[in-house]
Amino acid sequence: MIRLAQNDAVVRFSKGDFQALAALLFRRYPEYEWATFARFGWRDTGRGLVFSLASVDPPGSGDMNESVGHVQIRESYSLRTALSAEKHPFAVGVIHSHPEDCLPAPSSIDNDMDGYYATYFSDFAPGRPYVSLILSRVEGTLTLSGRVYWRGGWHGVEKFAVETLPVTTWQARERNFRRGEARERTARLNSAFGSEAALRLRQCAVAVIGAGGTGSAAVEILARAGVGKLILVDPDRMEEANLERVHGSQPTHARQAISKVEVAREHVLAIDPTCQVEAIIGRLPQKEVVDAVIRADLAVGCTDQQHSRLALSDIAVRYLVPVIDCGVALEGANGAVTAQVIQIVRFLAADPCALCRGMILPATISQELMSEEERGLRRAQAEDARTRGENPNQYWRREAQLNTVGFLTTTAGSMAAGYAMGWLTGRFDPPFSRLQMNLLGRDLDVTDSAEIPRAECACRRIRGWADQANADAFLNAPAHWDAARWIDS
Ligand SMILES: [Zn+2]
Ligand SMILES: [Zn+2]
Repeated sequence: MIRLAQNDAVVRFSKGDFQALAALLFRRYPEYEWATFARFGWRDTGRGLVFSLASVDPPGSGDMNESVGHVQIRESYSLRTALSAEKHPFAVGVIHSHPEDCLPAPSSIDNDMDGYYATYFSDFAPGRPYVSLILSRVEGTLTLSGRVYWRGGWHGVEKFAVETLPVTTWQARERNFRRGEARERTARLNSAFGSEAALRLRQCAVAVIGAGGTGSAAVEILARAGVGKLILVDPDRMEEANLERVHGSQPTHARQAISKVEVAREHVLAIDPTCQVEAIIGRLPQKEVVDAVIRADLAVGCTDQQHSRLALSDIAVRYLVPVIDCGVALEGANGAVTAQVIQIVRFLAADPCALCRGMILPATISQELMSEEERGLRRAQAEDARTRGENPNQYWRREAQLNTVGFLTTTAGSMAAGYAMGWLTGRFDPPFSRLQMNLLGRDLDVTDSAEIPRAECACRRIRGWADQANADAFLNAPAHWDAARWIDS
């Protein structure tokens, strides 16, 4: 018998890797089981470990006993896996299937295997978790269970997340049968997206980065759709100029300079008091914010900050969190508005990252991450250079004008929330990787940039590597930022 100390681990897969894994494990389906070893990137979030599948080490011929229906791994395969673990930094995992329509509940044979491997692999890979997962297809639904051995104790897997593909744990399945949750408010959603849509959204957690114009619109749509948990992140306080576009905001919020996540949280709870809201005054890539975001099913990017966009792209690659990012821009010339542009970008692990796509200007990022003092100094240097008739570009890039208006931010935020719902319910995908449209263009000037990853970019190598891609971390939070702070609920 294996006792779970806690049920707090999260295990994530990219869609393509998960489909390949299922095909491998169902090799002898529907009657017989099969297994493979795997490597997981991992991170200790302080509230439980988060794993992401980095690669599998599939069995070769003779590695398993094929004359029996259940899983019997030969010693040579275990030893080979353990020896390679001495050379890589990842957590070692074993994943096996149960026959079709058999729940992935661990058997006594599984208990023996896990008890044995937990100590076996920690001899070769000390300090690293051991991961054991079971996958089966139950009444047509991919159903998983899992447990993790770490620091002398067993932890259950609370959540499995496969990029854009709904899966379930057998415990959640049982709960839902008992509860049979049906809410009148989401009946129309179910009729549009299938009878399980509302329930899926109810089980999901979505992180929304940015609670300004686009973010507050996205949050409102997600709350009304019945998403079970929202993680809201924004460092800023309300100002009067925000009232034109921030959903749920009122003049008193601006007068009292209340934080934007507080406004968003109040708005969500007014819409749906049963929604769990985690409101963080902070920003990416602060450690605590990353910890919270990678436990979500999906992240929606709603900031105009390049460092935030780059961090989300990094999170999609390293931790396999699917991201929908949105932004708006208003362009003008000679006193006339010439373009009103909405951009929606999809970041999945296999997609080109923000660097590959050329969306990131290093100079802009370094400017964003500067302290106020340094920013002032650079600005003064630039002014001096200008008065001397020199080109100040080497000192300072002119800050972009943030000309956004409410109808534009609301449209962008709503679109992003809609695509998020498509992924969470498994009903539809964005039919593009990076879309731009100009509301003033004839036929909206819609473009889909068919960008391809750069072969030499780090993002091609570190998919699912989580914290073990340390050396390739794209960026760190500067020391002068205030620490991230949770608003108590
Ligand atoms: Zn089993
Ligand atoms: Zn890249």
